Amino acid sequence: MQRLITAETILTGRAGQSVPKGAVLVDDDRIVAIGHRDDVSRQASNEAVLHEYAGHTVLPGLINCHVHLALDASSEPLQHYLDSDDTDLLLAMVGRAQAAARSGVTTLRDLGDRNGLVFHLRDAIEHGALAGPRIVAAGAPLTPPSGHCHFFGGEVDGEDDIRARIHDSAARGADLIKIMASGGQITPTSPPMWASQFTGEQLHLAVLEANSAGLPVAAHAHGTEAIAAAVDAGVSTIEHCTWMANGGGYDTRDDVAKTMAEHGIHACLAWPPHWRAFLERLGPERAEHIVNRVRWMRDLGVPMIPGTDAGLRGSHFTGFAEALGLYEHLGFSRDEIIEMATTTAAKALGLSDVGTIAPGYSADLIAVKGDPRSNLDRLNGPGLVMVRGMLIVGFDGHFQHWETSGSVVGHAGSVSITLGSSSVGVVSRERS
Ligand SMILES: [Zn+2]
Repeated sequence: MQRLITAETILTGRAGQSVPKGAVLVDDDRIVAIGHRDDVSRQASNEAVLHEYAGHTVLPGLINCHVHLALDASSEPLQHYLDSDDTDLLLAMVGRAQAAARSGVTTLRDLGDRNGLVFHLRDAIEHGALAGPRIVAAGAPLTPPSGHCHFFGGEVDGEDDIRARIHDSAARGADLIKIMASGGQITPTSPPMWASQFTGEQLHLAVLEANSAGLPVAAHAHGTEAIAAAVDAGVSTIEHCTWMANGGGYDTRDDVAKTMAEHGIHACLAWPPHWRAFLERLGPERAEHIVNRVRWMRDLGVPMIPGTDAGLRGSHFTGFAEALGLYEHLGFSRDEIIEMATTTAAKALGLSDVGTIAPGYSADLIAVKGDPRSNLDRLNGPGLVMVRGMLIVGFDGHFQHWETSGSVVGHAGSVSITLGSSSVGVVSRERS
């Protein structure tokens, strides 16, 4: 089935690329054409369904690069997680994934859950049994006994365990391996955030094993020592990338940042939607320190991708667009931020057919009122969300009625109904 989506502006996802009075033609799960609406509508079949998004901007679906579907973003996410059995947890994960999709996030990278639940969810969505976002999933992250996030079940003690755990994750269908290179905040028994949890040799081994199974590695690393070791081992992304010195304070290392830039190792800061309150709590001096550290990374060319650590306290699955405001605060242009959250994120995650609106790409796209290039808040509450050509938000109910009535399809002349500023109908072939 073909859908012709027209809008005031189409953003391809790449900074600086837009089509005014544009259209996107989708055939089942694929984008087949993008361009000026007259040119694109000529390529549409007689039966194509028209979605007119007047006053809207169509852009690739957003990609949240760091979430935990197993956690509920409440004030006690860990306790609720521990209190849930797998069935309850999986059902809750479905709801969170769908909420994220409705908010315009068409791809989630999940960096830690238990018992491979997220793989079942990912596959059910992929096979069409459930509506939801595309999911890229790590499964249980590798961590030492009682280490950071050990409650996900990925404890490893020594080299043999590391190998076995990676083989197990690969066999269960992991899309990547997550390793907790440093301590973290939410685990009482974890070493301090700045402390390394693995040796350089162990990180090398993990990357080697993962890569030989065809999987990239994401390293959680707050400490500079852990960041440097993970970069040296050749991981694909550094989560948080906080540059904490041993024992306290910060230690930014130009050589490590430059290696990240050279090798395209992305930093995923994983800041929550309430980043502004978070900075305020730290006080002006520390906040400025943090802001300067990100600017320093940017100046050295470290590529960055946005994530929110959704599931942690207060980081709701619908808060991704809000979280993007941080990057504007840090000095990124809105055009750059949209690119980071779409095209750049897809590339960093190794997804070759999402994050851009172009022929041959998967039909993962959204439509928002107005133009997000003049105000990022426009990304909130999309009027259209499509994942693999499936409508998550839109006017599909009306389409079903029209299509089953049958007689409308193939009629000469344009037939459409108007719903607010958007309308649906059947493409007219009279004009072409
Ligand atoms: Zn996380």
